[in-house]
Amino acid sequence: MKAQPKGSHFIDGSYAEDAAGAVIEVVYPGTGEVIARLHEATPALVERALASAARAQKAWAALRPVERGRILNRAAALIRARGEALAQLETLDTGKPIQETRVADWPSGADALEYFAGLAPTVTGETIPLGGDMVYTIREALGVCVGIGAWNYPSQIACWKSAPALAMGNAMIFKPSEVTPLGALKLAEIFIEAGLPPGLFNVLQGRGAVGAGLISDPRVAKVSLTGSVATGQKVYARAAEGLRHVTMELGGKSPLILFDDASLEDAVGAAMLANFYSAGQVCSNGTRVFVQKGLKERFLARLKERAEKIVLGDPQDEGTQMGPLVSALQLEKVTGFIARAKAEGARLVTGGGRGPQNDGWFVEPTVFADVTDHMELAREEVFGPVMAVLDFDSEEEVIARANASDFGLAAGVFTRDIARAHRVIGQLEAGTCWINAYNLTPVEAPFGGVKLSGVGRENGHAAIEHYSQVRSVYLGLSPVDAPY
Ligand code: NAD
Repeated sequence: MKAQPKGSHFIDGSYAEDAAGAVIEVVYPGTGEVIARLHEATPALVERALASAARAQKAWAALRPVERGRILNRAAALIRARGEALAQLETLDTGKPIQETRVADWPSGADALEYFAGLAPTVTGETIPLGGDMVYTIREALGVCVGIGAWNYPSQIACWKSAPALAMGNAMIFKPSEVTPLGALKLAEIFIEAGLPPGLFNVLQGRGAVGAGLISDPRVAKVSLTGSVATGQKVYARAAEGLRHVTMELGGKSPLILFDDASLEDAVGAAMLANFYSAGQVCSNGTRVFVQKGLKERFLARLKERAEKIVLGDPQDEGTQMGPLVSALQLEKVTGFIARAKAEGARLVTGGGRGPQNDGWFVEPTVFADVTDHMELAREEVFGPVMAVLDFDSEEEVIARANASDFGLAAGVFTRDIARAHRVIGQLEAGTCWINAYNLTPVEAPFGGVKLSGVGRENGHAAIEHYSQVRSVYLGLSPVDAPY
C-alpha cells in the first residue's frame, strides 16, 4: 500500500519539495506499514508559502463574495464526486474504518464549503445614523490566516478552517498534523481544480516547530488551531506577541448526563457514540458518563451487551465498526490510562484488552463503572475508546460535579423531562451542548469550547466573525465644526 503524494507541500498552485527538510514517515495504522515519506518544510518553503499567500489574498478579497462562493461550491462538488477515493485515503491516513470516513470526514468538509459559500454573500454591515452625519460598517478579511490541524479529523479540520477563511476573502496556510498529513494536500489540489487562484490555500508539512514559526511572521493575521490544551497555550501565547486573532479548538473531558427517565436504548446508543466513534479519538466525546442511580444497573447491562458486539478490525473492511488507534504512541497512552484506572479501583465492565488479534494498535471498546471524581479517568482526556461511568443522585449534585473540570468543550443531557433538560443544559459550563443527542456537529451549528477547551467558534454564523474584522467609516455630511 502506497499513498505517496507528488510532493510534501503545496505552494502557489503546485506541489513543492525540499529534501533538506527532516523526514516524516506516514504510517497506515491498520498495519503499521509506511505508506509515504514526506519532508518537513524548510525556511525557504515557508517563505514561499507566506509570500504567495500575501500576494494572492488582496485580489481575492476584492472579488464579490458570490464569486468566491462559486469556487468553494465547485470544490465541494469535486469532493462529493471523489468521495470514495478520498474516504479510502482518509482511512489510510488515520486508520478510521471506511464506514466512518465515507460519511463523516470529507462529506462534513464539503458541507462546510457549501455553507460558507452561501453565507459569505449575505454578510453585510450596518448604517448608523447620527443626525446629519452617519457611520457605515463593512466586514472585511483579516489577511493571511494560519490553520494548524490535529490528527483525528485531518480533512474535516482542513475544510472547517479553510471554508470560512476563504469565503471571507482570506488566504490560508495550513499545517496538518505530522501524523496525518495526506488529506490536506488533496484539498489543495481540489481547490486549484475548482478555480481557486494559486497561493490562497498553501499546505506546509512539519512538526510543531513549523507551526510555531508561521505564527510569528508579521504577514500572518490569525491562527486557528485544533489540538491539545498544552499546544493551545503555547500557540495562543505566541500569537499574543503580535496581537494576532486566534481560534483555539482544544481538548475536553465532557459530561454526558443520563437521568433515570431517559430512554434506555437512546442513552446507551449515545454513550457508545460519545466514546467509541473513531476509536474514541474525538475531542467532544462525552467521556464522563454520569448515570442516575435508578438507571445505572440496567444501563451497564445493556451497554456491555451492545459494546461487546462492536466489530473491531481491518479499517478497510466495510464490516468493521472500530479501527485501531492512530499510532503506537496513542496506544501506549491509552493502555496506560486503562492500567491506572484498574489500579485506582475503577470496575472494568467490558473491554480493557487489545482486541481479538491482540496485536496492532487496537484497543477494545472499554467501559469502567464506579468511577469517582478524583480518579485520573474522570479528570484527564484519554483520547481512546474508554468510557468512565459515574453515578449520581440529584440534579443539583450532578451539575456541580459535571462543572468541576478545567475543560468545557461539550456536554449532553438525556431526559424525557423537557423543562429539566433545558434547566440542566443551561447550567453546564460547555460551549457545545446536546439534549437527547450527542456528538452531532452539523456545520450550521457553532462549535467550540469554554474554559481550557478553547476560544472562538468554528462553523455557523459565528465563524464569520472569527475570520473577518469590522471597518467603521464615519461619513461627514455637515460642515466641519472646528473650535480653532
Ligand atoms: P497536538 O496538540 O499534539 O497537535 C496539534 C497540532 O499542533 C499539530 O499539527 C502539531 O504539529 C501542532 N503543534 C504542536 N506544537 C506546536 C507549537 N508549539 N506551535 C504550533 N503548532 C504546534 O494535538 P493532537 O495530538 O494532534 O490532537 C489531539 C488533541 O486535539 C486532543 O487534545 C483533542 O481533544 C484535540 N482536538 C480538539 C478538537 C476541537 O475541535 N476542539 C478537535 C480535534 C482534536
